[in-house]
Amino acid sequence: MPRRLSMMLLTLSAALSAPSPAQTMDPDFAASVKQWTTKPEFISPLVDHLPAGSAVPSPKDVLGHHIGAPKELTYYADVLRYYDTLAAHSGRVKVLRIGKTEEGRDTVIVFVGSDDSIAHLEENRANLARLADPRGLTETEAQDLVAKTKPIYTLSGGLHSAELGPPEMLMELAYRLVTEDSPLIQSIRSNVIVALMPVADPDGRDRSIDWYYAHNVDITDFQKMSGVPYWGKYFKHDDNRDINYAGMANQSFLRWYLEWHPLVIHDLHESVPFLYIYSGQAPQNPLWNPIVYSELPMFANWDMTRLARFGMPGVWTHAYVDAWSPGYVAQMATNHNGLMRFYEIMGNAGASTMERTIWQSNPAILGGGGGPGGNFTKREWYRPDPPYQHVLWSMRDNTNYAETGVLSSLQLVAAFPRVFLEDFYVKSRDAVSAGTKEAPYGFILPADQEDLTRVAFVIHILRMQAIEVGRAKAPVKLSDGAYPAGSFIVKTDQPYGPLAKTLLGKQIDPDPQLRTYDDSAWTMSLMTNTVIKPTKDIAVQAVPVDPIDQYTPEGTLTGVSDTALYAVPDHGSPNMVTLRYGLKDVRISEKPFKAGAAAFPAGTFLVPASAASALKPLAAKLGLDVVGLAATPQVATHEEPLPRLAIFSTWGGTQDVGWVRYTFDQYKVPYDLIFKERILEGNLAKDYDVILIPSQVRTAKDLVFGIPKRRQPLAYEKTAKFKFLGDYGSSPDITGGMGAAGVAEFQKFVEAGGLLVTLGASSAFPPDYGITPAIDISNTSAHFYAPGPIVDADIAHPENPIFYGYSAKTVAVRYANGPLLRMSAEMDQNDVLMRYPGGEKSVLSGLFNGPNDIKGRAAVAVVPAGKGEVVLFTTNPVWRWQNMGEYRMIFNTLMNFRNLAPATR
Ligand SMILES: [Zn+2]
Repeated sequence: MPRRLSMMLLTLSAALSAPSPAQTMDPDFAASVKQWTTKPEFISPLVDHLPAGSAVPSPKDVLGHHIGAPKELTYYADVLRYYDTLAAHSGRVKVLRIGKTEEGRDTVIVFVGSDDSIAHLEENRANLARLADPRGLTETEAQDLVAKTKPIYTLSGGLHSAELGPPEMLMELAYRLVTEDSPLIQSIRSNVIVALMPVADPDGRDRSIDWYYAHNVDITDFQKMSGVPYWGKYFKHDDNRDINYAGMANQSFLRWYLEWHPLVIHDLHESVPFLYIYSGQAPQNPLWNPIVYSELPMFANWDMTRLARFGMPGVWTHAYVDAWSPGYVAQMATNHNGLMRFYEIMGNAGASTMERTIWQSNPAILGGGGGPGGNFTKREWYRPDPPYQHVLWSMRDNTNYAETGVLSSLQLVAAFPRVFLEDFYVKSRDAVSAGTKEAPYGFILPADQEDLTRVAFVIHILRMQAIEVGRAKAPVKLSDGAYPAGSFIVKTDQPYGPLAKTLLGKQIDPDPQLRTYDDSAWTMSLMTNTVIKPTKDIAVQAVPVDPIDQYTPEGTLTGVSDTALYAVPDHGSPNMVTLRYGLKDVRISEKPFKAGAAAFPAGTFLVPASAASALKPLAAKLGLDVVGLAATPQVATHEEPLPRLAIFSTWGGTQDVGWVRYTFDQYKVPYDLIFKERILEGNLAKDYDVILIPSQVRTAKDLVFGIPKRRQPLAYEKTAKFKFLGDYGSSPDITGGMGAAGVAEFQKFVEAGGLLVTLGASSAFPPDYGITPAIDISNTSAHFYAPGPIVDADIAHPENPIFYGYSAKTVAVRYANGPLLRMSAEMDQNDVLMRYPGGEKSVLSGLFNGPNDIKGRAAVAVVPAGKGEVVLFTTNPVWRWQNMGEYRMIFNTLMNFRNLAPATR
């Protein structure tokens, strides 16, 4: 038998062998783990033992307990301390600090491999980078590289902070990979470089552990567990929908990925029982290489086979979560010719052992999106040995399943490292050639569009994703368009060409009967309201360009020397709001006007010459043009003070509020974040001119009544013991909501002349609770289904300040499933500023069943109430860090808050 083949067979059979008999094992570990594992079938021979007696410290040596001990969770500083200690004692570990979080914690990657692998990490990195961009490589050179390179396999835990098990397990895994001498572990150690992302959201982990010890540690009924209001500073569960990488930890992870090119990012989550293995169900992104859709089920089936062989029940695959969205964090791998995998492992949202009844635990996912999840405890073809309906479940069970699973995945890669490296090379190579075979062959962002600051945002995102962007050296003439010199060109014949098509193209679902697990559309031109033209002319790929790394538009300063005042023309840049908040005196033009040869749109800022020293540097930095005028133009203007702004958040729905806070912070719009406590103090008008209620909970009732009252108060407060609680807001009892008394305060606020602004689902609040009693809400039909498609919205009153900066009468908006408002014909005529034309033709990207239901319905309405007004957005003008094309509507609402009443009223 050839040596190579015999080695391979040895590797494959390795898992069957017991741990190396020569190695001393820790009897205390074996006894403890046996005790904590709730059923004999919930463990495997891969994880029932742990080497002892070496110079390398085990988790218990550093943390004081074995992994999976009941009620033991590891704060992030201790997680780092463990890995740093491990690295200090072993040449098989290297800890790389890759960035900071919003709250100042280090994000790290921990490499684990043989001494040889760790000593040659940099060479290996360079080889993988060459394979990742194989342009100019011959097949022979590629094969040579494959032969001398080791695959990197990344395991990531703790992106979702309430899913506390995987970051614990990864510490034990690291120790095992470093110290164990079984043939299986030796094979993994020498053939694979394991890269651990120990905690993908470090800020959220500490806060979640504090909460567990403050409120959940002694609870034995899963239904009685509560969740902490905040994870990180801005983001909760949607940190895994961060398509534009707003989160600092996500940014660092991406930057690291693009340097090191791991073949796989395997993301470890907790939810369904006992172990669900993602396999990339329909609908699938057709732009990803077919290899992706073969590797995913191959890994899933392999892992399932291994756990079945160990007699571990409840492992399944091929059921839920599709392969449609490129926006999951770990999808950075698939997007860049690697592979995202993920597990859902059963967890108890803490480290307490609990009796669980499965059919109650996740009713929302039953029959869930992207495939037939169905009843988890029912046998199906994809679930041959289903989870038990009643089960006592422990943290150690969680560890056993996760660790046995990932060791199996690593075993497969260790057995066939060249196969997976070749796959990676072929995916990268074919990504380049695919761009030459099918239109679009490129995308053009014309340099002569009105606002280049939004173009700069798109380019920033593309460059962050390592997509090559160039500027045309000369005017571009293609069969389907002509563009000026300096236009930005994204050619699709590049390694990340398919990703460029994924992000910039329209989403056309192959099967309208399917459902998507998340948003079905994200087309960047529509989301950012920029001009991005696909071209069918392959000549675009020969257009000479200067590659650019970043692009910062420069604001120009023109005009007369003898300046009476300055004009800042409003071409729709969201940066206008930052400029406005950076200046004191600004008048805003209500109509377009001309001064000399220059034309200015409505919404143009007029700034006194005395403010030049503040205006000029700020406008230049923001990429905004400034024009000096010789005389005050003859145009109606209004001067608006800046509003004292509050953002109202429930305690139960902080996530979507977080994106609004993030966006306002990015644009330097100041606000107070207020909760039921401030509402109930009353006299809101004393402190605020505008109160904004972001979309945050499902119904108006949830907005008013919040987290259901309990027998005991549920405090979110900083204490000596729990120093990570009480951030971003604080309450002695987060339950109960503002109630009817809070509604009355909102009513008083509006009647006294305040401006109430509601977004998305929160726009059901004013009609449902009598603040806008003349409006009703009607329901959609039964078949209605709109998972975040992008649709047309028509501006009915273009003169309204809400639309300053919008030159077209129709704007692409993300459909947000806000309430369908019903009102009198007169109100509809006067107060509805923007409406959905509805119908199939109005669907621009993504999936929408029933677009006729929204025909003529309000997208934005301004309704009088007492002396005040209510602005209802049934859109969500701040949807994550994504629909920049809509931001101006909310910013305009703030900048013109006393001038929003429709002129026709
Ligand atoms: Zn999760």
